[in-house]
Amino acid sequence: MWIIKDTRGILLLFCVWLLLLAGDFVVCRYVIYAWFSIETDKDDESFSGLHTFGAWLFYSYHILLGLIITAHLKAVFSDPGSIPPGAVVPPHQSATARSCKICMDQWKPPRAHHCKTCKRCIFRMDHHCPWINNCVGLNNQKFFILFLVYVTMYTICTLLLLILGITFWSQQKVKVVHLTAVISSLVIAVLCAFFIFFVSDFLSEQMESIKTNSTLVETYQYATGPSQSFHENVSQVFGFIRTPIDYWKWILPIGSGVVPNLCEQVTYSQGMDGGEKENINQEVGIAGDDDEGQMPQSNKLLYNLQQQQQEIQRRHSQRSKNSRSHLSTQSDDNLSCWTDENKLSGSEIGIRKRDGKMTADPS
Ligand SMILES: [Zn+2]
Ligand SMILES: [Zn+2]
Repeated sequence: MWIIKDTRGILLLFCVWLLLLAGDFVVCRYVIYAWFSIETDKDDESFSGLHTFGAWLFYSYHILLGLIITAHLKAVFSDPGSIPPGAVVPPHQSATARSCKICMDQWKPPRAHHCKTCKRCIFRMDHHCPWINNCVGLNNQKFFILFLVYVTMYTICTLLLLILGITFWSQQKVKVVHLTAVISSLVIAVLCAFFIFFVSDFLSEQMESIKTNSTLVETYQYATGPSQSFHENVSQVFGFIRTPIDYWKWILPIGSGVVPNLCEQVTYSQGMDGGEKENINQEVGIAGDDDEGQMPQSNKLLYNLQQQQQEIQRRHSQRSKNSRSHLSTQSDDNLSCWTDENKLSGSEIGIRKRDGKMTADPS
C-alpha cells in the first residue's frame, strides 16, 4: 500500500476526518434529529411529511459523506504516478532524456518532477497536498478533484441545513434549544463558510489545469502539455469514454484506467532565473533541478537488455489480459511510448552482448 510517512500530513489527514465527523454529528443531532424528533409536536399532522423528508435527507447526506471518504482514502493511498525503477527511455527521447540526481540518475520523463516529501519522481506531479498526505499526480488527480467537488457540495448542504435549523428554532417549532446546539452549530457554520472558499479556490485551479493540460508545477514554470481538445484533457484525468453510459464513471470515485504516456512533452513559453526556480520549488514542494540535462551514458546502460525484456514480457501479458476491454479505451498516443519501446533492440539502446554479458556499445 502507498503511504507517505510525513507527520504533518498524517495529522492533517486526521483533521480532515475529524472535521467531517464533527459536521456530520452536529447536523444529524441538532438539525435533522431535532426537526424530526419527538420533541416536536406529535399531534401536528404537518410533521408527517417532514418525517419522510427527514429520512430522505439523512440518507442523501450520508451517501455524500460516504463518497467524500471514499475519494479521500483513494487519493491518500493511491500511487500518484511514481516513475517505476528501470523505466525505459524510448529511443526517440534517448538523446534528450533528463535524469534525476536524487533518484540515482534514473530517467525523469519530461512531465515528471521529484517530490521532496514523497522522495521520488512523480509523473504529471501537480503539487504535494498535505490534506491528502500525498502528491497529486495523474493516477490520483481524479480522486482529488472529486474529493474537492464532494466537499464543496457537503459544506454547502451543511451550511444550508444549519441555517434552516436556526430558522426552525427561531420559529420555536422545537420546544427546547440547548446552548451546546447553538454554539456547535455556529462553529460548524463558520468552518463551512471558510472551507467553501478554500476548497472552491483549489477546485478552480484544478479546472484551469485540466483546461490548459498543465499541472500546477507546470503553470508556475510557464509550461503546458500537448495541445489537445478539452474533452481529451478531461478524459486523460477522468477516463476515456467508450459509451455514453461511461460518463457516470467520471462522477464516481473509481479508477480512471488511463495508462500514463511517460513520453508526453512540455512546451515552455518563457524561461526562469535561479531565484524564481527556487521559489517555485518551495511553493510546490519539488526538489532537484528540472534542468539537470541529459542522463549520463553510463546510467542509460542501467536499463540493460534484461530489464527491457522483463518489461516487455510484463506489458505483453498485461496487454493480452486487458486487450478485450481496457486497451480498447486508450488512444494510440497513450500507447505509442510503450509500443516504440517494445521494438527496442540491443543495438538501438547502445548495448551489445559479448561473452554472454551485456556491455555498452562503445560507439
Ligand atoms: Zn527523483
Ligand atoms: Zn509528494
